[in-house]
Amino acid sequence: MNYAEVAVNSPAGRSTFCYAIPARLGISVGQAVKVPFGLRTIQGIVVELSDQPSVETTREIADIVTADPVLSPLQMQLARWISERYLSPLFDALALMLPPGFGVRTIITYLQAANHHVDLSSLTPDQREVLHIITGKSKTSLPELERAIGKRKARQIADQLLAQQLITESQESGKAGIKPKTARYVKLVTPVNDGQGIETEKARLHKAGAYKQAELLEFLAHRGRSISTSELQKRLNCSPGTIKALERRHLVSVESMRIRRDPLSGLSVTASAAPPLTPSQLAAWESIREAMAERAATKWGQYYRLVGRAAMARLPESYGEQAGRPPVFLLFGVTGSGKTEIYLRALAQVVGAGKRGICLIPEIALTQQTVERFASRFPGRVAILHSGLSPGERYDEWQWITDGNCDVVIGPRSALFAPVPDLGLIIIDEEHEWTYKQEDKSPRYHARDVAIRLAQLTNAVVILGSATPDVGSFHRAQQGEYQHLKLEERITPLGYSPLPEVSIVDLREELKAGHRSPLSRPLLTAIEETLAQGEQAILFLNRRGTATFVRCRNCGFVFRCPRCSVALTYHSAERKLVCHRCRYSMHVPQNCPQCFQRHLRFLGIGTQRVEEEVYRFFPRARLLRWDRDVITRRHAHEEVLKSFRDHKADVLVGTQMIAKGLDLPDVTLAGIISADTGLNFPDFRSGERTFQLLCQVAGRAGRGVKAGKVIVQTYSPDNYTVQAAARHDYLTFYNKEIEYRRRYNYPPFTRLVRLDYRHTNEALCHREAERVRLVLEQSAPKDIDFSLIGPVPAFASRARGQYRWQLFLRGPDPTRTLSQVSLPQGWTIDVDPVGMV
Ligand code: ADP
Ligand code: ZN
Repeated sequence: MNYAEVAVNSPAGRSTFCYAIPARLGISVGQAVKVPFGLRTIQGIVVELSDQPSVETTREIADIVTADPVLSPLQMQLARWISERYLSPLFDALALMLPPGFGVRTIITYLQAANHHVDLSSLTPDQREVLHIITGKSKTSLPELERAIGKRKARQIADQLLAQQLITESQESGKAGIKPKTARYVKLVTPVNDGQGIETEKARLHKAGAYKQAELLEFLAHRGRSISTSELQKRLNCSPGTIKALERRHLVSVESMRIRRDPLSGLSVTASAAPPLTPSQLAAWESIREAMAERAATKWGQYYRLVGRAAMARLPESYGEQAGRPPVFLLFGVTGSGKTEIYLRALAQVVGAGKRGICLIPEIALTQQTVERFASRFPGRVAILHSGLSPGERYDEWQWITDGNCDVVIGPRSALFAPVPDLGLIIIDEEHEWTYKQEDKSPRYHARDVAIRLAQLTNAVVILGSATPDVGSFHRAQQGEYQHLKLEERITPLGYSPLPEVSIVDLREELKAGHRSPLSRPLLTAIEETLAQGEQAILFLNRRGTATFVRCRNCGFVFRCPRCSVALTYHSAERKLVCHRCRYSMHVPQNCPQCFQRHLRFLGIGTQRVEEEVYRFFPRARLLRWDRDVITRRHAHEEVLKSFRDHKADVLVGTQMIAKGLDLPDVTLAGIISADTGLNFPDFRSGERTFQLLCQVAGRAGRGVKAGKVIVQTYSPDNYTVQAAARHDYLTFYNKEIEYRRRYNYPPFTRLVRLDYRHTNEALCHREAERVRLVLEQSAPKDIDFSLIGPVPAFASRARGQYRWQLFLRGPDPTRTLSQVSLPQGWTIDVDPVGMV
């Protein structure tokens, strides 16, 4: 093989580039290499080898970065799928799977070009100075150059010299700053390592008056294995000198050993056994167990067992297809119904068969409680990966996982790419959570879809768990694509417990009675009772409380688009109500079109306001606030939570973050300040999102021994989302919601792609969006069924000084249309976006 297709780390393209392999280099698929790219040398990953070049002229691979492949064929296959499905550069998809710290820091260095004949007089003084600096040394890094002549100029002038081929540039991976951590370990030297020898040596030491040394020797002989010097000093209360002395006598040896920076070392876990399952759990478990057994018995499953991982690495491309769709279970059960217990049981089964698992959890729910629960069932066999880890911890976990030392990896969506050998199970807890979609950078993948593909490639089983499943997931389960499993009852320490009672407060009535506080009278009464009982309350406010929709405070009327039925958004600049779907717009009338009263209000309440109100009515209550403004530091949310769980406060006021899977046994009241903010958000998913939030908050109350109470305040007490959430009735909500989606042709009945353009100039931004709309209309193949929505300004239309305009493609296969056109820089593509704002 003389040629390699290389995915390069450059925004220039989705595809790969062909390079010739110089005879001196041994190149294999999955290897990281350095290649010339334009005037630069950049990093890339070899994705394919061939005898023939795919283009007429090729350049040579400059060098290898790692001797061995950094990615396995399986990872390459998964990356290719991600790149095709989400229309992302292949390199971005591959980068998801690279080890932590790999190539993160590339340092740009400049060298004098090989044979240059410079007419110095043709250069500017700046250029001459830079050239002088670069020729004066064997190589000059960009930071060095920046220090010499200033940050702004350095890159600019170096680029000018590059263009004239007076210098060359290369990228070197800087030290990632991650080194294996080592500790010094003491062990007995072999000859004395038997009872007889020890006794003789001890006697000798006693004679010499070295009692401490004798004690140490005795300890080591008894222990039988090595121990770190620090641990030894602590246990025997001895000095480094004692160990040194023994070393000098050649009785012990001290060696550096690599150790793992264990992020769980602070946990005190006691091993615990699995409880017997409840009848409802047993039924669910039986289906999963069967599917697992079946999966292992398939042709591919047997093949996998017989030939193991090494051969899997050489499997044909078509393997995934042949292996068939993996079993996917949708485990539907309210919070506290015992889903986690099923995960643990499934994991035990997989581990028993010599395989391993990955358990995805929304980052915010990745608290000590969750981890402790897994760690106590699989002591010392749990790895965690999340953004709070130090680079060193992350590196060690990765290594530890690669070596096959753990049974399960727990983490947020990116943990899906942990190099777990012999994967047998992927769990996605709270599968409806939107954080499973990577939105902020390419590739904009959804962990659920990638997990199912990964399961297909590895012969694994997927379990999706939720109390409020994603409408799309539930639809798939209804269609038989996923297997539907249901856990009926809630389990508490005292056995089954009913869900908390939910009452709806009609805010229109409050206003009519002249009560203007954001805390309604029934809510105030409930808080008072809760405090009197010495129990705790949570007051919950939608984070998007500032969403500007217009509502009549008299009758609850909200302005909606007559064409799209989403709430209209108020644009203060033009003083108009605008539909963010179709651009329909209207002026705000003086009077409400429904009740003709002058009670129209522009809405939005913040957590701070609620906090003040609680303080006004209950000056003696201890308050805690939890929102983005308070929770900025790395462990701050855990601290706030812990102090609330320890009952150091009576009332917690917070945003949607507090709705995530937490156990707060003393909370008996949950108050939802306004159910409407989410409902009136201009997105087809606003109902689904609101339902999920209301249910989660409701699920917070009464998880302990005491019964809980939930109060939902709203101006739309008749809305089906609010009604269904109050009754904990997912099915009714789902049936209404799926009808709405069908009628207006929204997912899951179609697919969407969001195209997003940003620019500091608004007119230009709008023009570019219109232009691309035309291009798409004209270039789309005629046989494809699709429609365009927009361009429309994005909801937060001016973020960080940039205007954003959006276009949506809608159709059964919208990516096919898009793969025909190439979008200029500035556009981002989001396939299957989780929302339309
Ligand atoms: P979920 O994941 O659905 O929120 P959990 O698995 O956390 O539910 O279960 C809720 C509570 O019930 C936990 O405290 C758990 O330890 C307990 N539990 C779950 N299953 C059983 C069981 N079979 N027997 C006894 N307790 C159980
Ligand atoms: Zn509209």
